[in-house]
Amino acid sequence: MPDAPPAPRKELSAPQKALHKLGLTRDIDLALHLPLRYEDETRVVRLSDAREGQTVQVEGTVTHQEITMRPRRQLLVTLDDGSDTCTLRFFSFYPSHQKALAVGARVRVRGEIRGGFMGRTMMHPAFHAAGGELPDALTPVYPTSAQLPQAYLRKVVASGLARADLSETIPPELLGSLQRVVHGAWTLRDALRYLHHPGPDVSLDALEDRSHPAWQRLKAEELLAQQLSQLTAKRERDALRAPVLRTASGGLHEQLLAVLPFALTGAQRRVGAEIARDLARHVPMHRLLQGDVGSGKTVVAALAAAIAIDSGWQCALMAPTEILAEQHFAKLIGWLEPLLAPLGKRVAWLTGSQKKKQRTEMLALIASGEAALVVGTHAVIQDQVVFQNLALAIIDEQHRFGVAQRLALRSKMGPLAKEGESSPERRGTGFAGPQALPLEGLSGDAQRASDGGEPHMLMMTATPIPRTLAMSYYADLDVSTIDELPPGRTPIVTKVVSDQRRHEVIERIRAQVAQGRQVYWVCPLIEESEALDLSNATETHAELSAALNSSHAPFRRDVSLSKAPEGPALPVQGRVPPPSAEGARERGEAASAAQGGAPVLVGLLHSRMPVAEKKAVMSLFTSGHMGVLVSTTVIEVGVDVPNASLMVIEHAERFGLSQLHQLRGRVGRGAAASACVLLYTPPDGGRLGETARERLKAMAETNDGFEIARRDLEIRGPGEFLGARQSGAAMLRFADLATDGHLLDWARTAAAQMLQQHPAAAEKHIARWLGSKAEYLKA
Ligand code: ADP
Ligand code: MG
Repeated sequence: MPDAPPAPRKELSAPQKALHKLGLTRDIDLALHLPLRYEDETRVVRLSDAREGQTVQVEGTVTHQEITMRPRRQLLVTLDDGSDTCTLRFFSFYPSHQKALAVGARVRVRGEIRGGFMGRTMMHPAFHAAGGELPDALTPVYPTSAQLPQAYLRKVVASGLARADLSETIPPELLGSLQRVVHGAWTLRDALRYLHHPGPDVSLDALEDRSHPAWQRLKAEELLAQQLSQLTAKRERDALRAPVLRTASGGLHEQLLAVLPFALTGAQRRVGAEIARDLARHVPMHRLLQGDVGSGKTVVAALAAAIAIDSGWQCALMAPTEILAEQHFAKLIGWLEPLLAPLGKRVAWLTGSQKKKQRTEMLALIASGEAALVVGTHAVIQDQVVFQNLALAIIDEQHRFGVAQRLALRSKMGPLAKEGESSPERRGTGFAGPQALPLEGLSGDAQRASDGGEPHMLMMTATPIPRTLAMSYYADLDVSTIDELPPGRTPIVTKVVSDQRRHEVIERIRAQVAQGRQVYWVCPLIEESEALDLSNATETHAELSAALNSSHAPFRRDVSLSKAPEGPALPVQGRVPPPSAEGARERGEAASAAQGGAPVLVGLLHSRMPVAEKKAVMSLFTSGHMGVLVSTTVIEVGVDVPNASLMVIEHAERFGLSQLHQLRGRVGRGAAASACVLLYTPPDGGRLGETARERLKAMAETNDGFEIARRDLEIRGPGEFLGARQSGAAMLRFADLATDGHLLDWARTAAAQMLQQHPAAAEKHIARWLGSKAEYLKA
């Protein structure tokens, strides 16, 4: 029988599509879609009682109507309610407006009262015919999108709320303590009904700052769901097996410690021991290593990798971009590669820009196990990559990876993870398992670990969150913190400077370059327009090239660097040092440039450049040939050029605090005194906004990443902190950890008890709150 033609799929209407886009698919999602604010249409006030700035509803008769042309075309309507009059002004209007607001019409109008020389005014008020019943609850205003009219959304939310299953999931023995922390006996149903349609007598303040018991109940529920899902994930993971990894006497770990050009800091030793302890257990590690920029996380990662390799297993290291992977792991590879060679082992690279032939070679090395260490970008988690025996996955700058990518890396361990399981993600990730011979000269632990199924995971981040917060929130993540910088760093001096003093900054650059130092100049990312972003950086690049080379030979545009090691033409201005300078690089070059009249090489780096060009520019900068590097935020993390001593951030007011701190961390890596200049441009004639000023002030006042994190938390609240970017945990929509610590404490205790004694209710609670996101929380 021929296949029946596919049934015509029912097209979703535009608002339905918009609902889906907002994630409002289930009744419960609609019920949990809470108002941004409320409008009070429950009462009509007298005009004479309305204060300026108040949004009110009034009812009256139109006594006058005219269209004026000055200062611009507008419709003016005078409304009289018997107590006073008010002018309604419309700059955009239709004939229907004129008709509905004809002299003599009785209308109900809602808007904000303003003063002014024309007397009371409302701009573009909402209006309809007078009379009609007044609602008895406040009217909710929901967060929405352009395709989703407020009136439509109100209707679907109301019906979602009516249909949703809001039965109690919290067991009776936990309700007492819940009611104590939320200050009231609110059920979820009552709380939601109330928050969608509060009565007119409510304290709008308590609703707005979410201190109202109905809000508290909701936030407690949300935190409970987060804690439950994380605890569940932890329990599931604890039931899985991972290979037992131990150092071997005389092995790689020992050798690496011996060749390191420095002694580990106390903090590095401590976190190293925490990681080693985890790796030696047959439960998969799930640990976040947090430490300020420059605190030396990479060496800790290298030591962890050495332990895995010592035990005869493979380790994968992943960084968010190719430049970062290269820059960031160069040292690590420099240390490990020579130690691996005598063992017949190698380091494999996997990146998106690789040539096919090279890639095929690398894939073979990885599959055969000859590559003990695999380093790369997202390319590491692609389907064709088959590890021989992956035991440890390390993710650097983990907040820059999506949750799905982290899950994919975990799945690389292969199909032995759960008996017979072959979920789609696991397709093509063959797993040869540890029957592979243990490395010669290394321990035989691989043999004993042959029941291993999950890799250990180490995630690293330089965007720390306060430790107490991390510990209580991440129920399923162990946190190691490096709270000490390597010795011998000179603190970075940070200056906040108006863009009007830009020329002084350029002079300062000239002086730094004259001393043989190097300089970063970062231009902001303009979210809405990559093109604008680029032109901004390009202009600055031209400006700096011209200014720094002003009294010398006219600068040439886009000099082709055909003699440079990498070959391709580069967006570099200024003359290129002669190839003979290769050996004699170091700082003398740039110094002679600025002093002796030779041009200063100014490079440009932005995200749209081909990878080969980026690499070529980076290598000129890291080798010391380039004095100044102008870039968009591609250098945000990880780049390590100790000779760079000055960081200029243009439009610093547009950056987030942690991003500024990360950028600043690119300097101050050597012994030289370093500085960071935060250039700001106030809006036309005005002052910077309050939060921007607070951010810049925080930067000028402290270099401590944890203090920065604490201030950041204060300035913008932790929602974003713990949101998808930071942790992969679903964002907290309602709770705010800065103010809701008491609710979190309750949720932690309650979650443990509920999981133990009421697993079915726990499951129901997680599904209600997290729906399809629950799976993601396990990454
Ligand atoms: P991050 O934590 O930002 O990744 P890195 O691992 O890149 O920091 O380390 C920053 C710099 O400090 C590197 O040049 C690294 O070699 C160096 N370093 C790391 N640990 C020490 C130490 N204990 N003593 C001296 N220098 C160190
Ligand atoms: Mg790093």
